[in-house]
Amino acid sequence: MSESLFADASKRLEKALKYASVSEDAIERLKYPKTSLSVSIPVRMDNGSLRIFQGYRVRYDDTRGPGKGGVRYHPNVCMDEVQSLAFWMTFKCAVLNLPFGGAKGGVTVNPKELSRLELERLSRGYIDAIADFIGPDVDIPAPDVYTNPMIMGWYMDQYSIIRRQLSPAVVTGKPLAIGGSLGRDTATAAGAFYAIEALMPKFEQPPEATTVAVQGFGNAGAHLAQMLSKAGYKVVAVSDSQGGVYAKKGLDIPSIRRFKDSHKGIQAIYCEDTVCNVIEHEVITNEELLGLDVDILIPAALENQITEANVNSIKAKYIFEVANGPTTSGADKILEEKGVYVFPDILVNAGGVTVSYFEWVQNRSGFYWTLDEVNHRLKVKMVEETQQIWKIAQELSISMRTAAYVHALNRLGEALSAKGTRDYYINS
Ligand code: NAD
Repeated sequence: MSESLFADASKRLEKALKYASVSEDAIERLKYPKTSLSVSIPVRMDNGSLRIFQGYRVRYDDTRGPGKGGVRYHPNVCMDEVQSLAFWMTFKCAVLNLPFGGAKGGVTVNPKELSRLELERLSRGYIDAIADFIGPDVDIPAPDVYTNPMIMGWYMDQYSIIRRQLSPAVVTGKPLAIGGSLGRDTATAAGAFYAIEALMPKFEQPPEATTVAVQGFGNAGAHLAQMLSKAGYKVVAVSDSQGGVYAKKGLDIPSIRRFKDSHKGIQAIYCEDTVCNVIEHEVITNEELLGLDVDILIPAALENQITEANVNSIKAKYIFEVANGPTTSGADKILEEKGVYVFPDILVNAGGVTVSYFEWVQNRSGFYWTLDEVNHRLKVKMVEETQQIWKIAQELSISMRTAAYVHALNRLGEALSAKGTRDYYINS
């Protein structure tokens, strides 16, 4: 794709503007990231050599509260990607009415090539580099692709060392032992599951008559595949970065998860083996998975998976975006013309940041909730916002994506105006 990811992401905003009640000033403000930080992180490798890694943190907007967003470790991480992810976080937090703005971070690295100690030194180095840029009331990191609770624990510890005070609320997605929340590990999947359960009855599509394909068998995709399978949906295909498996009668998700878990590497951080090794199922490529004749397609891996190049092969009737930005705006247009319902990332995958918010609240109050309390509160929020966006989409005859942006824009616009924009001075 020649166009930048951020330019493509911004098109969604432009499309929603004509339906939202937002001032000109607010619109202009939301077109640009508020602050973008680029850092170099020196890391002493196990063999004694020094390597410099590139890191980023972007706070897109903090009108509704401190910045909030994960940190990604991936070889393709760049400023354009981090800005786009921070943009989506801004709208996601507004969609769920969380008192947060949007932020995101990343380090350009293939973490699978690092030893555990190199990974820890890199993670602590990243926090050293961005410590003045984050904080419980400023910007709160969390896990994203190829980062996990253990890394969040290192982040929290390093930040606390720098500040000389325990600061659990500076990062979410931590291990339970140091202030993590129950239910955070399954939150993104659970949120997506509640959204699916709220929406599918509108199409009179019962679980047992619904086939599902899930691209990406990581934290979000694997948990969701298991939840759907348990609820009676027929999950016929799953994949990871190496490829996928397909079984017409439905896959045994718990056994695939056990297989992946038992083959994980050092400290169970990354999968060494892939779901392709479960040989009793038909092996398929990721491209084949996307084109399967299923009812629901769930991209839960990375962005830009459904593009103008492959959109015509999509046969699913419903797409639930668990990954951030899996569909390009060009592909989106074609899917809309084909009558495919696309349920957008900023709603569907918002369960993760919602339970991150719950974790932050628990850290600040020092009072911890039960798993049932967390899941109940998550369900209430997801169902409420899903129904509101559905209503906006129906009333304005627009797609669920545009409706989600309208919903978020109205909240962001109201907050920007309430802070006092130039409108006040012009009118007085
Ligand atoms: P993860 O690292 O746990 O898993 C990613 C999975 O995708 C892995 O199984 C990996 O093998 C697979 N993958 C990578 N490239 C692929 C490809 N080209 N084709 C198929 N599979 C591929 O990450 P995660 O936390 O599950 O996140 C997945 C997506 O969900 C990301 O877009 C992330 O931004 C989004 N998301 C995650 C959370 C969360 O709380 N985990 C919250 C919101 C959004």
